[in-house]
Amino acid sequence: MAAPVTLQGIIQDIVDEMRAAPDRGKVATYIPSLAKVDPARFGMAVYTVDGECHAGGDDEIGFSIQSISKVFSLTLALGKAGDQLWERVGREPSGTAFNSIVQLEAERGIPRNPFINAGAIVVTDVNLAGHPPREAIGELVQFVRYLAEDESIAINEEVARSEERTGERNRALAHFMKSYGVLRHAPDLVLGTYFHACAIEMTCRQLAAAGRYLMLDGRHPGGGRTISSIRARRILSLMLTCGHYDASGDIAFRVGIPAKSGVGGGILAIVPGRASIAVWSPGLNANGNSQLGSLALERLAEATGWSLFNPG
Ligand code: GLN
Repeated sequence: MAAPVTLQGIIQDIVDEMRAAPDRGKVATYIPSLAKVDPARFGMAVYTVDGECHAGGDDEIGFSIQSISKVFSLTLALGKAGDQLWERVGREPSGTAFNSIVQLEAERGIPRNPFINAGAIVVTDVNLAGHPPREAIGELVQFVRYLAEDESIAINEEVARSEERTGERNRALAHFMKSYGVLRHAPDLVLGTYFHACAIEMTCRQLAAAGRYLMLDGRHPGGGRTISSIRARRILSLMLTCGHYDASGDIAFRVGIPAKSGVGGGILAIVPGRASIAVWSPGLNANGNSQLGSLALERLAEATGWSLFNPG
């Protein structure tokens, strides 16, 4: 008789398949610090709604969460600005690369959504209101620690400095938006804060833990509420439609659950009411999303039946 299929077994099969995969994509090099990461790494962690964590591969090695931080920054900014945030950031998929500038002129400096770089820079500007940058970034790190129930989460300063030195494209985006009055603070202050948010380092286990509030419809796993249900659902909608830039449609088609990627090779994916998933493989595809991370999520969805479109 075949052994019963367990979530741990499914994860192990995925880890084995990904470890042997011939095409791992290419590690990001435009942030020099990220270019040093070993492309052979692969990790995965899944928190289920019963509080269990199943994990495999390099699930305890820290990586740069990069644009996955945009989910946490957005959650904080909505808490501060409420729906007024949507006067300064759109909610439409961009159909362009994460660092694209082309739509900003036609849309008078208003970014398409909070998950492309331009949008996250505006979200960071909102989070800076009433704070010096050091406090704003401290608040974000504290928030992520609270979500993950893990005080050891921190910023990798070397990665932050590395991006600060090379972030000309983000500088261009920020100055362009400032020229339209969309940013309230000086671009350098906003960018310094944004680069530090991107440089938060987490393991797959920590990231999956931090995503549990979205699995739980806005409730904190330790009890009480982090955000309202409606806000959690809206953040998930944006992850589904905008979380993978111009590959968001492809990921919705292949995986069918809301997910947010980062150029560090991580992806946070949420199955509402069921699971919070983190996967990490540093090699990226042409859209700047983790090549094997996307494939691993596809395999996991297939093997578990998890899908936004499967109510069962
Ligand atoms: N820090 C990166 C940047 O701003 C984040 C991009 C990403 O993860 N897609 O370019």
